[in-house]
Amino acid sequence: MQALTFEDVEQVRYQSIPDPVVVDDSDAIVRTRMTAICGSDLHVYHGRETGLDRGTVLGHEFIGEVVEIGSSVEHFQLGDRIVSPFSTSCGRCFYCNSGLTARCERGQLFGWREAGQGLHGAQAEYVRVPLADSTLVQAPDDLPPEVVLLAGDVLSTGIFSARVGDVGKGSAVGVVGCGPVGLMAVAAALSLGARIVFAIDRVHERLDLAADFGAVPVNFHDVDPPSVVREATDGRGVDAVLEAVGNSAAGHLAMKLVRPGGTIMAAGVHTERDFPFTPMAAYDKNLVFKTGRCSARHYIERSLALARSGRFALDRIISHRLPLEDGVEAYRIFAEKLDGCTKVVLIP
Ligand code: NAD
Ligand code: ZN
Ligand code: ZN
Repeated sequence: MQALTFEDVEQVRYQSIPDPVVVDDSDAIVRTRMTAICGSDLHVYHGRETGLDRGTVLGHEFIGEVVEIGSSVEHFQLGDRIVSPFSTSCGRCFYCNSGLTARCERGQLFGWREAGQGLHGAQAEYVRVPLADSTLVQAPDDLPPEVVLLAGDVLSTGIFSARVGDVGKGSAVGVVGCGPVGLMAVAAALSLGARIVFAIDRVHERLDLAADFGAVPVNFHDVDPPSVVREATDGRGVDAVLEAVGNSAAGHLAMKLVRPGGTIMAAGVHTERDFPFTPMAAYDKNLVFKTGRCSARHYIERSLALARSGRFALDRIISHRLPLEDGVEAYRIFAEKLDGCTKVVLIP
C-alpha cells in the first residue's frame, strides 16, 4: 500500500510499504477513506517531539471501511463504515470504565512507534486497529463524512477541553490558539452556554472562522489580549482558558488571562521543559490547572451530537482536500499555514 511515513525532521515520505495484516484476534483492518493532518503531527514533523521510529506511518485521524476482522471481533463486519478515535482502548479496564480511555491500560496511539513497538498511523491506504470492538464507532449516515472525521480527534478534543476546563452556563472563556482544536473548543464552549468566548490567534482566516462560530476574535498581533479581556470582565479575567497551542508563549498568555480561582485547561501538547508559571504564581491565583490527552473514544458520541445540532458549520475548518500522494506537500502547507490552510484532509 501507499503511505506517508516519518523519515526525519521535516522529512515525510510517500512510499510503498507492506499492507497491514491481522495480528491479534481483536484487530480490524480498515481501508482509509479520509485521513487528516493534526497539529500534533507537527510536533513530530518539526522535531519538538522526539523518539518516533523512522518509517512509522504518520497520522491518527481517519474514517474508513472495515475490510478484514480478527476472529474475536463481534461488533463490526466487513463493509462497515467507521470513525476511529486517535487512540485504541479496551473498554474494560479501570481507566476505560471511568471515561479516561486515553489512558487505557492496553491503549495505543495511532502513528506512534518507538524502538520497534507501537502502532502505525492512518495516513495510508490501510490501517490496523487493535481492540476494534471497543475502539471503533459506526459512522452515522446522517452527517457528512468530513464532519464525522473531525469527531475522531479535534472535535472531541474541543469538547474535552471545554468540559474539563469547567466551562458552563454564563462562563467567560478565553481560547488561546484558533487552529482546528481551538476552533472546536470555541464551538464546544458556546454549546455549553458560555456567555462570551475570546478567540486568540494572529492568523486572519482562523480568527474569521472563530468569529463566525460566535467568538470575539482577538488578534494578538494587533492588540494586547489581557487588556481586551480585562476590559470586558470587570478587570477580573476569564473563568476558563482553553489553551490549544502547546508552547510557552501560549502558556504565559493563559496565565495572564485567567481570573483568580479560574481554570486553565491546556489541550496543547507542551514539549518544553518547564511550566510557563511558577508554583507561587499558581498559588497566588488559586489556579486550577488541567491538561492531558483527550479520551476521544469517550467523547465521540457527544461530538457527533454537537455536529448534528447544526449550530456550527464545523467542516468549514477544512480548507484543503488533497490526494494522499500529495501528502508531503500537504504537511508543508499545513505546517507553514500557507494558502489559508486551517485543516488538511487527505484522500487515499
Ligand atoms: P495548529 O498548529 O493548527 O494550531 C495552533 C494555533 O495556535 C495556530 O493557529 C497558531 O497561529 C496559534 N498560536 C501559536 N502561538 C500562539 C500564541 N502564543 N497565542 C495564541 N495563538 C497562538 O494545531 P491544532 O491542530 O489546532 O492543535 C493545537 C494543539 O493541540 C497542538 O499542540 C496539538 O498537539 C494539541 N492537541 C492535543 C490533543 C489532546 O488530546 N490534548 C488532541 C489534538 C491536538
Ligand atoms: Zn490529533
Ligand atoms: Zn482500557
